[in-house]
Amino acid sequence: MSHDDCLFCKIIAGDIPSAKVYEDEQVYAFLDISQVTKGHTLVIPKVHTKNIYETPVDVAGELFKRVPKIANAIQKAYKPNGLNLLNNNEAFAGQSVFHLHIHIIPRYDESDGFDAKWLPKNDEFSSEDLKLISSEISKQLK
Ligand code: 5GP
Ligand code: ZN
Repeated sequence: MSHDDCLFCKIIAGDIPSAKVYEDEQVYAFLDISQVTKGHTLVIPKVHTKNIYETPVDVAGELFKRVPKIANAIQKAYKPNGLNLLNNNEAFAGQSVFHLHIHIIPRYDESDGFDAKWLPKNDEFSSEDLKLISSEISKQLK
């Protein structure tokens, strides 16, 4: 189901133009207008879902199923040295369009415009802490 006020639903419907990379019955992929790096692509489900939290399992499965093929197409086209997948959920985590999307960001060199490095904090959590954290999360999966 599409949402009238959703930018990406409008792109899927063709009401807003986009540079299409791939389309089938369930998934649409197109170039991110901001091209963080050359070939930066967004992969989205045709059904509107706000972000990962409210995504039905079958929608998530069908979406991710297409990612390897599209990633390999980008790899063949531009031979990047690597590629990052990114999915932002909620504004605090950088989500600015509230229709689930996976960023495929090809990586070329140190100054290609994207940086996904973070500092490991191995000394902050003991193995006991890790056990507690994992049990707190996994009990929410039941
Ligand atoms: P987010 O910040 O939600 O993870 O990613 C949203 C992405 O959508 C941004 O990287 C932004 O550049 C892209 N975007 C926003 N408006 C448009 C548009 O009208 N067309 C295309 N192709 N991309 C858009
Ligand atoms: Zn939408």
